[in-house]
Amino acid sequence: MSKKSILLSEEVVFAVDDAEALAEKVEALRAVAEEHSLPDTTSWDAHSLWFDQIAEYISDPVFMKDRSSRFVMVNEALRNHFSVNNADPIIGKSDLELHPPEIGLKFFDEEQNLMATNEALVGHEEFVYLPDGEVQWLSTTKVPVSDRNGNIIGLFGIARDITRRKTSELLRGRQSKVLEMIAAGVPLTTVLDELLLLVEEHLRGTKASILLLEPGAKSLHHGSAPSLSKEYCSAIDGITVGQKSGSCGAAAHRGEDVIASDISNDPLWRDHKVLALAHGLKSCASTPIISPTGRILGSLAIYSDKVSTPDEVQQALTYETARIAAIAIERDLAESKIRFLAENDPLSELPNRNMLENQIQELVKADVSGTQNFSLVFVDLDKFKHVNDSLGHSAGDKVIQIVADRLVNCLRPTDFVARFGGDEFVILLKNGSTEPDKIRMVLERIQEAINEPIDLESQTFEICSSLGISLYPQDGKDAKTLLKHADHAMYEAKALGRNCYRFYSAKLAAEDAAKLTLLQEIRVGIREEQFFLEFQPQFDLLSNQMTGVEALVRWNHPTRGRVPPDKFILAAEESGLISELGNWVLLEACRQGSEWQKFARDPIVISVNVSAHQFFSGDLIDKINDALDQTGLDPRLLELELTESSIITDPDHCIQTMETLRDMGVRIALDDFGTGYSSLSTLSTFPLNKLKIDRSFIQNMDKGNRELGIARAIIALGQELEMRVIAEGVETENQMDQLKALNCNDVQGYFTGRPMHRGMIDGLLSDQYPNSLN
Ligand code: C2E
Ligand code: CA
Ligand code: CA
Repeated sequence: MSKKSILLSEEVVFAVDDAEALAEKVEALRAVAEEHSLPDTTSWDAHSLWFDQIAEYISDPVFMKDRSSRFVMVNEALRNHFSVNNADPIIGKSDLELHPPEIGLKFFDEEQNLMATNEALVGHEEFVYLPDGEVQWLSTTKVPVSDRNGNIIGLFGIARDITRRKTSELLRGRQSKVLEMIAAGVPLTTVLDELLLLVEEHLRGTKASILLLEPGAKSLHHGSAPSLSKEYCSAIDGITVGQKSGSCGAAAHRGEDVIASDISNDPLWRDHKVLALAHGLKSCASTPIISPTGRILGSLAIYSDKVSTPDEVQQALTYETARIAAIAIERDLAESKIRFLAENDPLSELPNRNMLENQIQELVKADVSGTQNFSLVFVDLDKFKHVNDSLGHSAGDKVIQIVADRLVNCLRPTDFVARFGGDEFVILLKNGSTEPDKIRMVLERIQEAINEPIDLESQTFEICSSLGISLYPQDGKDAKTLLKHADHAMYEAKALGRNCYRFYSAKLAAEDAAKLTLLQEIRVGIREEQFFLEFQPQFDLLSNQMTGVEALVRWNHPTRGRVPPDKFILAAEESGLISELGNWVLLEACRQGSEWQKFARDPIVISVNVSAHQFFSGDLIDKINDALDQTGLDPRLLELELTESSIITDPDHCIQTMETLRDMGVRIALDDFGTGYSSLSTLSTFPLNKLKIDRSFIQNMDKGNRELGIARAIIALGQELEMRVIAEGVETENQMDQLKALNCNDVQGYFTGRPMHRGMIDGLLSDQYPNSLN
């Protein structure tokens, strides 16, 4: 910074930084001097006198100090600052004696440095304490003064009171800090506390508070009051928004300022004045906190320890504070809305899956001792799709909302209900017992609540639910496992016929898992040709000739070796995979049958087992036609074995299909006959060619009369209905003889031949018809 010396008079030289500013000041001083015709002097004393007089006219404190920083001259403004009438108490003293030590020392050091370096201090901002303890901010300019020879002899100073500007600057700074806190997402109470502390600091003798008004609420609740006692805050908490509810309730009600300058006799304060006065609160000015869209968010109150009405400064600060509070509250509301949306399902307003998982994890985490328990109930509405399909999606949405409400209302407030998705809910029964009996009561209550009739779109209907339960800790120790297991149990409940509940069982689940792998392996097996057929011969008891073979599927598993059909047929049937496997068997059997058709003199019939699923699949006829076409097998040489259970589920449909088959020439046998419950009269309505007496009757035939009687009755019945009767599972000669005696037509069993490779059937055929083979 360049320094210039300006000659003020012949003797006094000021060294300053801001030459122009000082030049202006000098001009002003000259003008004053001329106006008051002060003596133009060339001596220091004369000059000093001249200067003293000018200084008296300056409204800012002006002073001169000697080389030791002792006051040599002070003007009226400075005397006023120290609250003294004449200069005597000040002249000859340094700041060390006039200010608190830390401030005095700072000034002293500053000045000594300034005089030692001959560098002026211009517009330096600093503060002092006024006698009443208030802070006063000053912008001070101190300039070293030298004598004619250039020796520094002291300094000249002028200070301007900038308290107003400075405090509002500081306030701005603090307010923008609060705004930063808002932007940074600091919790609302912390932000409001900071904001109110700021108000209290700027307005001496005040205590501030903010009461919040929740959207749609009718009463105000504690928001922040950093300096008010807990007792007072809780007494005020919950006051209603209304004409007579203290200044704050009234301000929120009217949407305008309400000033109670004397609480002791203000009608608004009738109910709370004793408490307020006991806490030293004598007046209260309330301002509504209003959002930019005009919604009342709460009330800001500034209490004073004096009976008073807010001045201009307080009013301005109050409005600014209310404005910032509005920003903070709005932001908090928006944030809680976002949080709500992130954590809740918007339709049912129930916590969502994320929240549920967090809740479970928290419970698990809290169980440090390993002694806690809770249970998880997976709820799935039965046939909810019907509601959506028949009444529309908005009706479906309403049903979800109704069910959500019912679930919440039928449980304890400590329990936790979440919407898992679609028509699925999950209930967390907290710190409840995991005793099945106790849970059962809750489950029944849940199902009853859901079952209550629903009135919607002038219709009344009922909805059922399937529930699955998993228990902590036995069924899982984390959210994922517990949910998976409850879901699993729910599926079992559905499989059991809906509207029931099921507890998770690890054993059943393991079986299910094994079933799944099995199905996967069957798929691979079909693709990789691990399946093959064996054929079991059937003999006519009269001619002793082989008249047919039953095709039986076999599985050559790459690691498990040969897997018997009873290990996979059931699973394949349940999953529907049997159709795929059955179609393969059908084609393969027809192919083999057509081979034998080519060289056997007398035709042999090939029997193929057809499961119920396959029979009702809808494309059975097409598949049979395809297989016959592809292989050229005579339809009359194909026999389908159906079981009783598969024909009685839908007799009409069954008869229709059977008649089509009969018209095609395909034969139908009723397998495992005697084990089902078909009545004899219904049996006569089916176009059947053959009855196969179940193995169980044949095997016990030589032991008990009952079985023999049944076998006899079946044979008689078959003949009555003009069907052939075949006994299966014939293992002994004795059984053969007995069946012969009963006039049974055919036999099949280990005694006459086990299921065998097709090559062995070739051998049997060539034994039987030696001439037909070359
Ligand atoms: P099924 O239709 O009753 O087949 C006869 C079963 O009895 C065969 O068992 C056969 O090996 C067995 N068997 C034959 N003679 C005797 C005997 O004298 N004593 C004893 N103890 N058993 C005898 P397999 O091959 O294990 O088949 C079991 C079941 O698997 C079959 O019972 C049938 O229901 C099913 N199955 C086999 N192949 C197929 C197929 O290709 N499709 C369908 N859907 N089911 C099949
Ligand atoms: Ca069979
Ligand atoms: Ca059978």
